[in-house]
Amino acid sequence: MTEAYIKRPSPNFDARTRPIDLIVLHYTGMQDAAIALARLTDPQPLAGNYPGPWQSEDVLPDSPLSRVSAHYVVDEAGQIYALVPEEHRAWHAGVGSWEGEGDLNARAIGVEIVNGGHDFGLPDFTDAQIAAVVQLLKDIFSRWPELNAKRVVGHSDIAPERKADPGEKFPWAKLADAGVSVWPRELPSELDNDDVASDVQTQLASIGYDVKQTGSMDNSTRAALVAFQRRFRPSDISGAADEETRRLLVAVARALS
Ligand SMILES: [Zn+2]
Repeated sequence: MTEAYIKRPSPNFDARTRPIDLIVLHYTGMQDAAIALARLTDPQPLAGNYPGPWQSEDVLPDSPLSRVSAHYVVDEAGQIYALVPEEHRAWHAGVGSWEGEGDLNARAIGVEIVNGGHDFGLPDFTDAQIAAVVQLLKDIFSRWPELNAKRVVGHSDIAPERKADPGEKFPWAKLADAGVSVWPRELPSELDNDDVASDVQTQLASIGYDVKQTGSMDNSTRAALVAFQRRFRPSDISGAADEETRRLLVAVARALS
């Protein structure tokens, strides 16, 4: 499959400082694949070249934007573009935390999936695109023994208060069916912790979310719950610690253990 990648080298990378052990999935959140590829390979991105709802209309056109990249981009037709060699550190994750550690770029392979996202009406992902993402993840797993279905997260998982991608329309269940993500299959019949906030925080933290054990439903706990729901219960992403969500939390924590 590797030979089917189109090379679109990005200069936006540096050296990894730790071993690869995570894959982060994103949506591009831009108008189309060409604009996203331009942005992700641009060594000197300027605001005027990338107009969109992410910046105010009176921003100066020559204002510099941050340099960003990813290892791969998957377009709607299922074409995979290779931008940064996996051995290098691409710049896609930004500030975030997973399993108690920051600098996710140092340890992650980043995959950008072309989709307008919340700014552009949250369009459906295409079947060809999801099939390509599955194939790409299988390819990556075959190259890195530390990587498997348990090591794939969404950008919103590692930065719940800043990011919503790949979004609640991303078909995580299909990825799980294909063996490249986890899914909560066996829900517990009973919950054994009556203290809701403490139970939710314990489960979220054991999954990997950056949640402190405060014993109350604070903002970061609620944001992490929304991220969890986007992925595992997308029909209701209110952030409420309802009974179903709590059972799903236990099931996902078990699936990852
Ligand atoms: Zn992202």
